[in-house]
Formats: sequence, C-alpha cells, structure tokens
Amino acid sequence: MLENITIILVNTTHPGNIGGTARAMKNMGLTDLRLVDPKIFPSEVATARASRATDLLDNAQLFNDLESAVADCQLVVGTSARERHIPWPLINPRQLAAIAAPLPETTRVAVVFGREDRGLTNEELQLCHHHVNIPTNEEFSSLNIAAAVQVIAYELRMAALEQAEQAAGERPQWGTDWDIELAEHRELELMFEHLESVLVDIDFLDPNNPRQLMPRLRRLLLRAVPDKVEVNVLRGILKAVEKKLEPPAR
Ligand code: SAH
Repeated sequence: MLENITIILVNTTHPGNIGGTARAMKNMGLTDLRLVDPKIFPSEVATARASRATDLLDNAQLFNDLESAVADCQLVVGTSARERHIPWPLINPRQLAAIAAPLPETTRVAVVFGREDRGLTNEELQLCHHHVNIPTNEEFSSLNIAAAVQVIAYELRMAALEQAEQAAGERPQWGTDWDIELAEHRELELMFEHLESVLVDIDFLDPNNPRQLMPRLRRLLLRAVPDKVEVNVLRGILKAVEKKLEPPAR
C-alpha cells in the first residue's frame, strides 16, 4: 500500500521543506514525491535536509500545475490547516489511512500539501475527493509542511503495518475461542525431551552432532501453540514408536 501513495508539494517556497519532506517520507517507507512548480529546486538546502533520502529528490517528478500532477491518481486528498469557505468532506489522518489501506493495489492515492504562506487555493482544494486536517491546537493550527507530511505518512504506515500483521496471522484468538486448554510449558518440555530421545533411538538425531535439529523442531511446534490434546497425541505417537523399537518379548 505504501508504494501507491504519492506526496505532492504545491509551489513550495523553502527548498528545506522539500528536503524535510523527502526524509519524512523515506522514514515511513513512502517513495513517490511530486513537486508542482517549486520556487527553488534542485537545491543544496533541500539535499542537506533530506539526509539519506536524496534518492527521493533525484526521482521527484516536476509538474506545472496540480491537475497534471494528479492526472494518474484515483484518490486525491488535500491537506488543510483550517476550515475553508465551502466545506468539503473533512477527515483526520487516521481516517485517511483507514480509507487508503484497504484500496486495491492498483489505486494511486495522492496527498497534496500547500504553500507555506497560504496553503492550497480553493480551486486546488476542489480538485480533491477529501480534505485532511491534522487536529492541532486551534489557536496555532498550522504545522510546518514536512511535519504535516510526517504525521500523515506515519498514520499511513501504521495502517499498512496493521494490515500486513492481520494478513500474516489470521489465527484463532488463543484463549478466547479455542476449545481445549493450551499445553503448559512443562508439558511442552516433556514432549520435546520425549521427541529428542525417540529421534536418537531411531538414529535420526546424532547426539554427538545434533546441529540445529531440536531448535528447529521447537520453533516449528511452538509456532502452532499446541493444546493439551495435541501434545498428548504427539506423545502417544512417540510411545508407539518406542514400543516398535522394543525387542519382542520372549
Ligand atoms: N496559512 C496557511 C498554512 C499553510 S501550512 C493556511 O492557512 O492554509 C502549509 C501546508 O502544511 C498546508 O497547506 C498543509 O498542506 C500543511 N498543514 C499545515 N498544518 C496542517 C494541519 N493542521 N492539517 C493538515 N495540513 C496541514
């Protein structure tokens, strides 16, 4: 999702803010920076402020107006430090992230930032689907541009991380809807001891050269968070193996 986010700076006066934006973006995993008619660019000041994010400056695309900068974007969001003349659907950065995260991978989302002195024009704001406001102190509401980019990029990153976590671990909620009590630590340890001894008995594990076999098996089995019944089944299998190994009774 983060690859599909585009940050657009309109008519920026101070090149330091462009560099600061590049750094804020790269810290949060964003890469696509577009500049609409910047006053001074490229600039050594921007490069210095970008720290190790100069690749974003090198790859930044330049446009003459906002309309051409957003031409390939499906969702366009304008940022604003204050209420405007004609109210537009107004959301906060977290709500923006919640909208952006579930969008299909092909959807390009642009977040547009305005001029240091007067923000975005009404015309530019009316190009946007939504307006985003960072809920600041009402008596001192205007953030530095790079700081505003940082806040929004952070929320986008948090939503992306949460989504990745959910996708990776669609597991049952242990302890809430699992039907059997989870195995206790000592039961697991007994199972691992049992497993190790059987693996030695069947010559699968060489006690003189164990390598990483037991740690790997521990990791595999612990990843499953086994319950008491599962541990009993595994130990039953180990016992059956041991029985087969016993010399026939005379
Ligand atoms: N005096 C201007 C302030 C512009 S601040 C105005 O009233 O619009 C420069 C840019 O930083 C803004 O255009 C916006 O992109 C961003 N910004 C600053 N504070 C913000 C806030 N509280 N919420 C959202 N964006 C903000």
